Amino acid sequence: MPKKARTERRRAKKKTTCSDLSKRVKVCTACRLSKTRTRAVPAEGTHKAKVMFVGIGPGRQEDEAGRPFVGQSGKWFDRSLKRIGLTREEVWVTNLVKCRPFEGRRNRDPRANELAACAAHLDAEFELVKPNVVVPLGNIPLKHLLGLDGITKKRGMCFFKEDDPEVVYFPLLHPAVLVRDKDGNLDEYGVDLRNLRRLLARLGIGKYGKKVREQRKAGSAGKSAC
Ligand code: SF4
Repeated sequence: MPKKARTERRRAKKKTTCSDLSKRVKVCTACRLSKTRTRAVPAEGTHKAKVMFVGIGPGRQEDEAGRPFVGQSGKWFDRSLKRIGLTREEVWVTNLVKCRPFEGRRNRDPRANELAACAAHLDAEFELVKPNVVVPLGNIPLKHLLGLDGITKKRGMCFFKEDDPEVVYFPLLHPAVLVRDKDGNLDEYGVDLRNLRRLLARLGIGKYGKKVREQRKAGSAGKSAC
């Protein structure tokens, strides 16, 4: 691992607040994407979030705005949140890399060394937020977070990691795929969202989890399972 990335990992581990994490991302030069970005795109949300969404990296509009999931993808993302009974203020939204990877005018996938360099920021976010549910958006986050391949087969299902079995991973398609849907994914995406909504309800999260939260307060709800 390059020296800059090691330093960034050490600094990120000493994180304290969302604002600290955001400031670190904005000045980070741990990989070469810092040289070509307009703005770094820190994660957004609340450290109290129970659900964390993990995308790939900023696109052109995010790079210009300095915010994750804006433009058409952002609209899809916000609509999806609404359907599962959550708002941006209640969740944590982040990307594997915080600076736009691109070639010419087109976005490209982040390279292994860029993912490794930026992992310090994501690790610090997990440490701060400690989410109950993690939603990898697309194949690259699925692979990076769970070591699995094939988002079209793995989407809409629950996964657990041996070293952290309390956290549920529920992969979904990336919103950018839905914007340019050519493969007729929308019906299945609707089913995935309904299943995620049911999962959140069972875990007592968000609008649809209200009943379970009330039962828990009254001491009458059992432990939720996926
Ligand atoms: S992509 Fe991540 S590691 Fe690279 S410069 Fe941006 S914030 Fe730093």
